[in-house]
Amino acid sequence: MTSDTRRVWLTTLGCAKNQVDSDKLSAVLDESGYVAAASIDEADVVMVNTCAFIEAAREESVDTIIDMETAKRPDAKLVVLGCMAQRFGMQVTEAFPQADAVLGLDRYGELVGTLDQLTGWQPVRLNRSPMDILYTVRRPTLTTPYAYVKVAEGCDKPCTFCAIPLIRGKQRSRPPVNIRDEIVELADAGAREVVLVAQDLAAYGRDIGAPGGIEHLLEFVSDVDGIEWIRLLYLYPREIRPALIAGMTGNPRVVPYFDLSLQHANRQLLRAMKRPGDGERHLDLIGSIREADPAAATRSSFIVGFPGETDEHVEELADFLQHAQLDWAGFFPYSSEEGTPAALLPDPVPAEEAAERLRYLMSIQEEITAERNAQTVGRTLRVLVDGLEDGRPYGRSYREAPEIDGVIEFDTGKPGDMVDVYIDASYGSELAGTVVD
Ligand code: SF4
Repeated sequence: MTSDTRRVWLTTLGCAKNQVDSDKLSAVLDESGYVAAASIDEADVVMVNTCAFIEAAREESVDTIIDMETAKRPDAKLVVLGCMAQRFGMQVTEAFPQADAVLGLDRYGELVGTLDQLTGWQPVRLNRSPMDILYTVRRPTLTTPYAYVKVAEGCDKPCTFCAIPLIRGKQRSRPPVNIRDEIVELADAGAREVVLVAQDLAAYGRDIGAPGGIEHLLEFVSDVDGIEWIRLLYLYPREIRPALIAGMTGNPRVVPYFDLSLQHANRQLLRAMKRPGDGERHLDLIGSIREADPAAATRSSFIVGFPGETDEHVEELADFLQHAQLDWAGFFPYSSEEGTPAALLPDPVPAEEAAERLRYLMSIQEEITAERNAQTVGRTLRVLVDGLEDGRPYGRSYREAPEIDGVIEFDTGKPGDMVDVYIDASYGSELAGTVVD
């Protein structure tokens, strides 16, 4: 490595929260003189920000590390970051002797120093405590008119299937001012929508005694110039209090989009998951949301194949879907996670049976989503233009979250514009329309 700059390539896996970590690490490296490489073979350092949430995610992380090792220049350094490095640091180091460094989340403060040592380059040395990454407000140049903002790290909930508390620790909320500063930075960088994320978003602020929690935060950040929409993801059902519903449906800057992580409809299974509610209580919650705003959009995630799940439980969930009429839903096969209480439960569901149940429930929800979409034909929706595909603009209304829901195609507009679109057709999870003045 002879040039007087050092180029870094970063591949990110997993959830939006991991993407935010990568953005912040990139900003810290940029501040320290490192440059983002335009391609892997140009990079002096190749980094993989891994995910370890479930088995499938770990397999993808392993494959990606191997791919990066193959694709990089022989003299370039390979660095493994993220949840797999955090949770299985030693095993990753042993499994990948070709990795030059394995840094878990709580060692991110050492990243710059580690890269300086690996590349033999030391223009600027900035030691950062691990928590700086969470509080760092700087973000690299935006590539979309929306951006995720992580308002807290970790989780205090006892869900028996989930390894996240083992990886990301107890909940640590950022002070409201720190979050607002980041949103101002993002607005200045061209963001029109911010998507607030955390493992347990609706419990925001409880650990720091932030008065009024998430409800107060929404008020505090909803007057940032340039930001048209604030969206919330990952709402734990029991934390969705009437005040939060009012705060989301009564604030014109907050989109009435409720991402409910209900996980199942059967009471017995939910108790074994240490999750609240049941099908009836879930319907009451959805009813109170629609009472506050009949046009509110709803999404939920569900786990299929949890130990002890029977065909009757699956039918109960199928029936719940028909009654709930959610706009969107995601279904995930249960993954037995080492160190979680659920991994010790009896009556595991065979993988192919779980896969069959997943296909069955997804097919039911696909029809519901298509029907909910068809009901928007004839409406005019405010739309954020996300990009162009073959020269044709596409975007989302309040009803669609980025990257997980459908999109709307229409005839005119450039990325970052807010336009009014008359919806004249629906195609399953996608919509099409015409921009109206
Ligand atoms: S609330 Fe979410 S992140 Fe927290 S333990 Fe439960 S599933 Fe995991």
